[in-house]
Amino acid sequence: MAIIGIDLGTTNSLVCVCQEGKAVLIPNALGETLTPSAVSVDESGEICVGAVAKERLISHPQASAASFKRYMGTNKVFTLAGKDFTPQELSSFVLRQLKEDAERFLGEDVTEAVISVPAYFNDNQRYATKEAGKLAGIHVERLVNEPSAAALMASRISGEEEGTYLVFDFGGGTLDVSVVDYFDNVIEIVAVSGDNRLGGDDFDEVIARSFCAHHHMDYDSLDRQKKASLLRLSEKCKKELTGQDETEIVWEAEDKRMPMNNLLLAGLGQNLFDRISQVINTALRDSARSLDEVDEIVLVGGSSKMPVISLYLQTQLKRKPSMVASPDEVVAMGVGIYAGIKERKQDIRDLVLTDICPFTLGINVVNYVDEDKPVMSAVIERNSTLPCSKTAWYSNAYDYQKKITVGIYQGEAFYCNDNLKLGEINMKIRPVKEGDTRLKVCFTYDINGILEVEVTDCTEPESEQTKRKVLVSENLRLSEEELERRLEVLRTYKLMPRGGIRAKMVMARGERLYAQTLGARRQEIAMVLGQIQQAIADGNDKQLNECLRMAEEIFDRLE
Ligand code: ADP
Ligand code: MG
Repeated sequence: MAIIGIDLGTTNSLVCVCQEGKAVLIPNALGETLTPSAVSVDESGEICVGAVAKERLISHPQASAASFKRYMGTNKVFTLAGKDFTPQELSSFVLRQLKEDAERFLGEDVTEAVISVPAYFNDNQRYATKEAGKLAGIHVERLVNEPSAAALMASRISGEEEGTYLVFDFGGGTLDVSVVDYFDNVIEIVAVSGDNRLGGDDFDEVIARSFCAHHHMDYDSLDRQKKASLLRLSEKCKKELTGQDETEIVWEAEDKRMPMNNLLLAGLGQNLFDRISQVINTALRDSARSLDEVDEIVLVGGSSKMPVISLYLQTQLKRKPSMVASPDEVVAMGVGIYAGIKERKQDIRDLVLTDICPFTLGINVVNYVDEDKPVMSAVIERNSTLPCSKTAWYSNAYDYQKKITVGIYQGEAFYCNDNLKLGEINMKIRPVKEGDTRLKVCFTYDINGILEVEVTDCTEPESEQTKRKVLVSENLRLSEEELERRLEVLRTYKLMPRGGIRAKMVMARGERLYAQTLGARRQEIAMVLGQIQQAIADGNDKQLNECLRMAEEIFDRLE
């Protein structure tokens, strides 16, 4: 049975499978490889995922959500059409859709997947990703870091197995730059740096702001709907500038237009370029590598398609970055290859795949100077290769102490309180003089970045006791019963049937355009929408297809 590879992105998600040693991207019902990571609940209570949901973000904001990956592993609640969902649950709908698309494509059931996550994802976020898989009925075979997947893909394409890669992943709302080593069949992330508030969306916004300035309007005081319309037009303009050097934004409903070109865009993005440059410098500095030691610069993420970006990188890094595939598909293809390796297909050489632990993991120790501020004692250091297991010894800090609380933390800060607390283990100990307790603390960090901590009191052989814990923040972790209960609830939500998706997509697009236009054009849209509804009500497929074709033609013209 096939294992699928999934790139569960903030903006777009993809699913890929390995066939005859090659990564094959699986198209969705609309024939596209990219499925927007958006979810919407429609009037009948059905869940739509992808392009339809993305359209509905504008026309039905109260019933739709996107960018929920940002909140993975937190307690944030999204309310869609009056129903509450966690980020994991919304992600599970996206996964369910991708799984269905894959099953249809492969003609068999799919139950296992490899999913990519950002290298900086902490335990909570990784755990939440696995939970999203469970909620979608998928066993997550393993998680891989996005830059590792990109480097794997780059090495396959270039045919160079050995090398140091700088992976520049510029997505919709995030920038991740990683230095990755690939030597002796081992892929290792040497350093990661990023800005999780910097992405293609920011370019949309600078275009939108400049449009407003051009027309003496105040961007910040636009209402929600107008802002969304303008941002959409700006994104369209930005994408057009990938294929051509100049274009024009036309805001139909407001009867306003503005020319735009790549030179202007480069000027508007000056601030953003400075931030990009900082992220690259940090990654290189942390990796202790010079630019000369980097063998290949790999462009990843939809925003890397922008000519202003590749040109900027070329001048900054004094080298032409390589484009190994369409940048927004690289990670997914790499994950597909990983999935193939997991399946142990004959046609793939057996690679040893490793990842590193991006954070230091440790416990609290007493700070005698300020007892309210325990300090961090590292057990597993940042950048250790996974899987890894480390043991450290500790003792009681005070005479006749009866209890020791071992707090488990993740992070680089000196004081524990500034790091992320993952959990704690309480040990009752025999009261002895300070320093006489012998406490063995063992950390085991597995290949998926999930941590198991074992604390053993070894003070006296006869009283030896061990406590063990698998860690992610306890309050974020669902118990088996809760998980079952949520699964029951989620099962009651049906994904929109595949056959209706095209009609739904055209309707959603039409509704969005209706909201965005006025006058005669608006009437024309209303008429087309009416015809589609009629055809659906009549159950006349031939007529429906004809209507849809006509509607698409009209909408294309209007856009
Ligand atoms: P993520 O990894 O964050 O889910 P992607 O890598 O798919 O997202 O990138 C999405 C971003 O890429 C969006 O901001 C989108 O506008 C931008 N993008 C996609 N195609 C193009 C293009 N042809 N030109 C410019 N930007 C593009
Ligand atoms: Mg991505």
